[in-house]
Amino acid sequence: MPYKDECGVFGIFGHPEAANLTYLGLYALQHRGQESAGIASADGERLRISRAMGQVAEAFNEHSLRTLPGHVAIGHTRYSTAGESKLENAQPFLIDCAHGQIAVAHNGNLVNALGLRDELVRNGSIFQTSSDTEVILHLYARSRAASVEEALTESIAQIRGAYSLALLTKNRLIAARDPHGFRPLALGRLGDAWIVCSETCALDLICAQYERDVEPGELLVISDGGLRSIKPFPPQPLSHCVFEHVYFSRPDSYVFGRSVNEVRTDLGRILAREAPAGADVVVPIPDSGVCAAIGFAEEAGLPMKMGLIRNHYIGRTFIQPQQSIRHFNVRVKLNPVRSILEGKRVVLLDDSIVRGTTSRKIVKMVKAAGASEVHLRISCPPTISPCFYGVDTPSRAELIAATHTIDEIRKYVEADSLAYLSLDGLRQAVGSEQKSYCTSCYTGVYPVAFPPNEQAYLQLALKNVD
Ligand code: SF4
Repeated sequence: MPYKDECGVFGIFGHPEAANLTYLGLYALQHRGQESAGIASADGERLRISRAMGQVAEAFNEHSLRTLPGHVAIGHTRYSTAGESKLENAQPFLIDCAHGQIAVAHNGNLVNALGLRDELVRNGSIFQTSSDTEVILHLYARSRAASVEEALTESIAQIRGAYSLALLTKNRLIAARDPHGFRPLALGRLGDAWIVCSETCALDLICAQYERDVEPGELLVISDGGLRSIKPFPPQPLSHCVFEHVYFSRPDSYVFGRSVNEVRTDLGRILAREAPAGADVVVPIPDSGVCAAIGFAEEAGLPMKMGLIRNHYIGRTFIQPQQSIRHFNVRVKLNPVRSILEGKRVVLLDDSIVRGTTSRKIVKMVKAAGASEVHLRISCPPTISPCFYGVDTPSRAELIAATHTIDEIRKYVEADSLAYLSLDGLRQAVGSEQKSYCTSCYTGVYPVAFPPNEQAYLQLALKNVD
């Protein structure tokens, strides 16, 4: 799956080891971003920060964690969906302004960031980064509101798009989620401490209890006085990102009130009913295809076997090979198990096809390992449009399903048959609140419109097919 992940946020209030627990929480959110990681902490007097490029294990050491005292902290793992990959764009961001010090960690993407940034620059703001998140801090710094909460409310009211935020002042942890609820944000408890995090798997790692989700449009202020919920924005139709269930979130998380594992297994079950295949074995493309493959196999009455093994240790040392050895690219990540595949009719299960190039290599690899037939099944509908709410997708022109029929894609990837899950099947799997999901990458219908000056970079023809 060639999608890049987005970002993970974590925040904790009221624990003497706030930075250490944030560090552990970020480990559980590593799958959401591997480019950089950062932690900011507060001890009631001042904020401190440590950020570095790379994964959590590389970004921190005993010394850097010791420089982060205090009972409040926020953390961030980043993959850049807006802004370049460099240290100055690593989050959290920390500023000092008339309202005091504040740090922010953001998951999502603001659709009106460019317009706001231009206006702020015209009014004298000097930006340090190319990230959309910095816009929030400039709006906050310029606010003349009397209190931190009012200034934040005023600045957040101006941003549009997807945001799940963890913010830190010298004595407060503040969580905020956009009124559409694009990205998840969970609230948990560890003794007297409060935690907010992108996914519940981060609560599990530190043995915290899940309390509830931070609600769409909610601003949650956590201080020595306890937890205060503010809902300052008019409610909007919900648009939870369905792709969190299809691919991004970890299967051991609960996201938007549902077990990711259950939803993903149901995707496979429904796909087996919609598009059965005469086959001997179901093989997932690991790791993201595993849950759907289990569901498919159960429904089809076929065995599921790990016919492809993933190398988990590629990390950042992997060098893009030259043309002459480019075919090793997929081989480094995946290796076929000949004893499982040889002479077998294989259902190969993946969570999506983006450009088609990787799927083509994998189908070839499975056939070269002796499979007699390969029936490719995809546990979501064809991806026809890019995401502008925090997921890094290629432009519409690069998405194979935007420009090719399913049979043309089948021929290109050299599969014996190819079928995708239907949009109805996807909606059925995510459950009764299906109308509250964003499905824009499968429909081209976008729930939050873009300001006119940003149409240019959309690179897509919007379609009304829903
Ligand atoms: S466009 Fe797709 S990836 Fe983006 S928020 Fe909507 S469902 Fe999620």
